[in-house]
Formats: sequence, structure tokens, C-alpha cells
Amino acid sequence: INRIGVFTSGGDAPGMNAAIRSVVRTALYENKKVTGIYHGYQGMIDGEFIDMTSRSVSSIINKGGTVLKSARCLDFKTKEGRAKAYGNIKREGIDALVAIGGDGTFTGAQILSQEYDIPVMCIPGTIDNDLYGSDYTLGYDTANNTVIDAIDKIRDTAASHNRVFFVEVMGRDSGCIALQAGVGGGAEAILLPEKETAIVELIDLLEHAEERNKSSMIVIIAEGDKNGGVYNVAKHVKEKFEHFDIKVSILGHLQRGGAPSSFDRVLATRMGYTAVRELLKGNSGATVGIRGIDMITTPLDEALNNREFKLNEELLEIAKVMSF
Ligand code: ADP
Repeated sequence: INRIGVFTSGGDAPGMNAAIRSVVRTALYENKKVTGIYHGYQGMIDGEFIDMTSRSVSSIINKGGTVLKSARCLDFKTKEGRAKAYGNIKREGIDALVAIGGDGTFTGAQILSQEYDIPVMCIPGTIDNDLYGSDYTLGYDTANNTVIDAIDKIRDTAASHNRVFFVEVMGRDSGCIALQAGVGGGAEAILLPEKETAIVELIDLLEHAEERNKSSMIVIIAEGDKNGGVYNVAKHVKEKFEHFDIKVSILGHLQRGGAPSSFDRVLATRMGYTAVRELLKGNSGATVGIRGIDMITTPLDEALNNREFKLNEELLEIAKVMSF
């Protein structure tokens, strides 16, 4: 391997820049060259390449988003699109790839490496923490910190007016952010896609909280929750508790931005380093990840075919106890 191509693809996440920086610096340290590919697979097809030096990645470890930009690219799902992408990669002299993104990005990398003779290593970057092969994905910790900061602020206004707030958080089909930030933010109830909570149960819980004279209540609802969305849940609760001043807050894309946390910066740096070292050792078609305190790799086949139930059962129980 002489030249490694690095790109970010799919949904962006805080920590992607720190990962790019780490890939570039590790590769240069190993006397390899690095090409940055803009806009993920779209840039591969359009030929948007840039030679990366150590200075290209100065002062980006602390920046959210991705300096290489991201994109969703339908053309890459076609054989013709991938043929064009591979032709461009070859012409650039790129002979290995590091892909930073989510499961869609992993799927694209796997197909390309199977169709053509190009080693790939993936880095899990998504705030949703919904990928197999890593206890934590890049951006998840930062998003949790952003959400608890928002919950703290919402609680100030909730407590001043005896309000009940329904706060929707991101995570697609995963309740990881809802559970983690719900416990960290002291939510009275948490609704998750992995564990169906009927609205009657929620009403029961809120009644008990009211009996214990709680001055404010915050209910965290994961976007993937199966009760018909945050407004629907709020409407049903309002029918039962007409005296409650009920407010809805959808945190939305602010959860995807911001400076990465210390945890995400270090994780990204370890992942970038590991991805390059593994490629140079001859490993390919895999994703890097963290298990406990160790860096590991998992074959893409295995990572894409397993959807791990990542919610910590004990934390679910603790969330219930804490709302008592
Ligand atoms: P994420 O990586 O965050 O899951 P997407 O699902 O949008 O985001 O995937 C990112 C990109 O990966 C897509 O826009 C597409 O270019 C590529 N991709 C996804 N699925 C496939 C597939 N089945 N075949 C080829 N490329 C794919």
C-alpha cells in the first residue's frame, strides 16, 4: 500500500474530523501518502480528490462536521457508478480506502472491495450508536452531552412553571441517546423503540410523579419510539391531565453538531490510527471498533448482518428506579 484514500459519507457526526486527522497523520508517519476524497462516494465518482499533508488536518480535532464534506450518493448503488469510482481511484494511485460513516457507508465499502481488488477499512461514525462491532460510535458521546445540556435548560423553565416537557431526541431506530441522556439528564420517563411503553403506562408514571409533588417533569422520547410521535404522546397525556401545562421540544439537528467531546476525540484518534495500522498489516473488509478499553476489528459481513441489542438492561432498570 502506497496511497490511502480517506472519506466521510452518510450522516455526519462530531469526531469525524478527528478521525480524518488521525488517518492522515498515521499514514504519513508510516511513509504512506494520503488522498482526501470530498463528498464520500459522490466525490469518488466525480473525481474530487485532494492530496493531504499533515497541515491539511491542522486545527480540526476540535471541529464538528467533516472538512471532507459528506453526501448521499445514489449512483454508487449501481455497477456503472462503482466502475467509474474505481477507475478514478486507480488513476489517483489510491490503493486502499478508509471509509468513515454508518451502515450505508459500510455496505458501499464492502461491495466495492468485493467487486474490485481494493482493501477497505471502516470507522463507525454516527451519533445513533447503532452499529455492530463497537461499544461506541463516533459522535454518540458528544450528542449525549448536547442533549443533557438541553435537558438542563428545559428543566429550568419547566420547574418555574410546573410544566411537563416532552423532548424528542435523535437515534433513528435506536434508543441509545434517549436512555443515556435520559438517565444523565434525570428524566422522569423515557420512551424507547426497543422497549415499548404504552401511553397508559406513561400516564400512570406521571400520575405517581404528580402525587409526589414533582415540580417539573421531563419525558424523553426517542425519534424511533412506536407511539406515533412526540406530538401524539403529548396529546394523549393532555387529554388525561388537562391541568398540566404541556410543552413539546424536538431537539433535531443541533444534536449532530458541535465540538466533539474529549471521549469522541480520543476514540476517533484511536480508530483512525487502528484503521491505518490494520490496513498496513493486510487486514481488509472490516470495521474498527472499541470493546471495553480495547480497539478491535470486525469483518464487515459480521458487522452488517448483526443488529446488536445495545441498550444496557441494567441502565433501563436504573432509569425506572430513578424516576420513583
Ligand atoms: P450512513 O452511512 O450514515 O448509513 P447512508 O445510508 O446514506 O448513510 O449511506 C451512505 C452512502 O453509502 C449512500 O449514499 C450510498 O452512496 C452508499 N451506499 C449505501 N447503501 C449502498 C449499497 N447497498 N450499495 C452501494 N452503496 C451504498
